[in-house]
Amino acid sequence: TLLDFSELIQDVVEQIKLISQTRCNISFDASPEKINVVLDEMIVRQILTNLVFNAVKYSHEGGDVRVSCRHQEDYLILQIQDQGIGISKENQENIFEPFYRAKNVDYIAGTGLGLAIVKQGVQAHQGTISVESEVGKGTTFTITLPCNTENLQ
Ligand code: ATP
Ligand code: MG
Repeated sequence: TLLDFSELIQDVVEQIKLISQTRCNISFDASPEKINVVLDEMIVRQILTNLVFNAVKYSHEGGDVRVSCRHQEDYLILQIQDQGIGISKENQENIFEPFYRAKNVDYIAGTGLGLAIVKQGVQAHQGTISVESEVGKGTTFTITLPCNTENLQ
């Protein structure tokens, strides 16, 4: 499907603001031009929802969550950045496994499936996902998705 990626991100961000009752300040930087991409809308929506919701859920109240999207050649590069509790190096190796949850999140509800679903969706598009994080400082997930794009402007 041809997707207006910026519009999709904005839609997901608005939904999460509603369900999280604006727990965090979520901002979104889109690449300057509007882009249409050939990606599966359901899968991309699921990926975004899981990552942005995690960023809010594992942040302190009032924290900043930044979503950014840029377009580089035939790739979309998507980043979801938070200033939350962070993930230790050891846990970073396991978080994409189904049902894995870090010990420091016992007090926050979850099943441990979100990132496993994200990884499958990214792989289904021959994309990549990586995580950078520091405990107590925050986390950034970076996704690249190969896509055919078409500039509208
Ligand atoms: P759910 O299935 O409801 O998404 P979950 O959020 O626990 O449950 P995942 O989204 O798969 O499951 O995340 C796996 C684990 O990775 C989390 O339990 C948490 O320990 C860690 N994690 C994921 N995202 C973040 C984040 N942004 N900051 C800190 N820890 C995170
Ligand atoms: Mg989750």
